[in-house]
Amino acid sequence: MSRCKNNAVKKLKAHSPEQAVDILVEKFPLHLNPEQTALARSLQMEAAKVWNAACNIHRTIYGRYGYWLSEGAIKALLKGKYCLHSQSVQAVVETYFECCERTRELHERGNTGWRYPYRRKRFFTVTWKEAAITHKGRILKLSNGWGREPLIVKLPQRLANTAILQAQLVWHRNQYWLHVTVEKPVLLKVQGNVCAAIDPGEVHALTITDGEEALVISGRLLRSLNRLRNKVLRQLQRAISKTKKGSRKRRKLLAKKYRFLNWIERRIEHILHTVSARAVRWCLERSVKTVYIGNPEGVREKDCGRHHNQRMGQWAFGKLRDLLAYKLKRHGIELIPVDERGTSGTCPVCGEYTRQTGRVYRCGNASCGFTGIHRDVLGASGILDKALDGSFTRGRRLPGKVEYLRPQVLAPQKAA
Ligand SMILES: [Zn+2]
Repeated sequence: MSRCKNNAVKKLKAHSPEQAVDILVEKFPLHLNPEQTALARSLQMEAAKVWNAACNIHRTIYGRYGYWLSEGAIKALLKGKYCLHSQSVQAVVETYFECCERTRELHERGNTGWRYPYRRKRFFTVTWKEAAITHKGRILKLSNGWGREPLIVKLPQRLANTAILQAQLVWHRNQYWLHVTVEKPVLLKVQGNVCAAIDPGEVHALTITDGEEALVISGRLLRSLNRLRNKVLRQLQRAISKTKKGSRKRRKLLAKKYRFLNWIERRIEHILHTVSARAVRWCLERSVKTVYIGNPEGVREKDCGRHHNQRMGQWAFGKLRDLLAYKLKRHGIELIPVDERGTSGTCPVCGEYTRQTGRVYRCGNASCGFTGIHRDVLGASGILDKALDGSFTRGRRLPGKVEYLRPQVLAPQKAA
């Protein structure tokens, strides 16, 4: 289900070729009263009925007549039979067909582990399209068709005056969330041709350089949050495993676990946003047009013992790269992954590789003995060199000015 959530968004994008706006998805938890919760629940169950019906009809007709019904035919069959907005019903059918289509593509590529939709669902994500959404200030009204009660929710302040193209009601970690697709004005594109490189890391979340200057952003806070997450989760998990299935105690502990995960993951995400935003700002100040990013796949796959592996597994590199990619793209900056092997160990003077242990680079070649530069700065500079020249250049210039930063922490509100 989650794989198909963005289908309608892509279609919307195709509609506006001139691209005067950027289309983004914002997610926020909903604080609903008991009546709203009951309504949201019944809507999700209704959407699940649509899904089940589509799946049933599609399979039954094929079983009897050896013929797959088209998307339009199923839409027509299900029209007006459910307590949802007509376009919300269509959205479920569209998601169903997208799911089938993706499965078919996977099967064609020989990947048959993924099955065609077959499971009966009890709940399903509800989608409202533009025609069903009315919004005045912070009050968002999601219509469910004539004569039915609409779902009315409050938007966060930052979305009060933005046009909303689509909304989705999603159940995530014990509470309802709303994913809204919004239009944001296009940002100015960078005019320039400077190249820069990023060395992502665990101790230093990110090091960026354009060859002249460098910026090092600390990742210690991220690491400490990850450790806290592991520690608390382990305790909770142990307590949960001791309780009986279906007991009150277990339910309470589970709620506690989700509450904690919600809270800590929002903090982690907030820091990742801050880190990527700082990097983007740095690029803008220097009119950088292309950014190369070290691809640490090899580093993460190595087996280095239980603790190191857990640390590497949680190193939110993929997430950070995705955030960087979309933020840079809005400014017309390209992000290109580069193999980062050897970049932080190769001496910029003599070109010899030395395994590094400390934070400051030390060349192992006795006749060279180059030292005195931060290892991650050297790594970023190495990635830039490798990306531009194809190999390491001996005696290349190193960034002269290095700035150190910690991501600022503004604690986001605790999720209820
Ligand atoms: Zn050397």
